[in-house]
Amino acid sequence: MAQQDTDQQHAGVLPVDDEGYVVDTEDCEGREKAWRESGTSRPITVVGNPVLHKECRDVTEFGEELRQLVADMFASQRTAEGVGLAANQIGVDRKVFVYDCQDDEGVRHVGVVCNPKLVELPADKRRLDDNNEGCLSVPGAYAALARPDYAEVTGQDEQGNPIKVRGTGYFARCLQHETDHLYGYLYIDRLSKRDRKDALRQMAENEPRYPVVAND
Ligand SMILES: [Zn+2]
Repeated sequence: MAQQDTDQQHAGVLPVDDEGYVVDTEDCEGREKAWRESGTSRPITVVGNPVLHKECRDVTEFGEELRQLVADMFASQRTAEGVGLAANQIGVDRKVFVYDCQDDEGVRHVGVVCNPKLVELPADKRRLDDNNEGCLSVPGAYAALARPDYAEVTGQDEQGNPIKVRGTGYFARCLQHETDHLYGYLYIDRLSKRDRKDALRQMAENEPRYPVVAND
């Protein structure tokens, strides 16, 4: 009975908790596998590719084409061993990202967000965390970057239902990083000139461990 009530309250792909946030922690293994196995892994675009440096277009159609894109993104994310992937990282100019990421408590989250918007946080929720960050589109590089250790994103699921996603720690970092991608920003754009240069040097010195799209 409780289950049926939940279904009636929310027609979305994932259940929601009592505050209206998606529950993206259940059956992570099964859901990630189902997505990835119906997708095709594609090479990753890297810094310098124009598709990464401009705002992506909104998702307006929530049909088979989007489903296939999301499946390809999960497949590509797995090949590259990423914890999050934005559509422009496989060369597609659409506002959608996927994630498979652990939070502060080591709890795994798997999900899809279309047309994400970062929720502005009150000052008392803005505790900065200056852990290392890396990006599949800047292969082989890492740099410390201060970001709030809690984040909320609003958007839509792959069927167009409105959703809210929240996360802590590394997962909060992931939600911010992936949303940035869809607005044309890489994490290295938030670094000091010197740290950015150092990240690009690291990238130049390390061979990517997954297929990438060569820049012209
Ligand atoms: Zn990235």
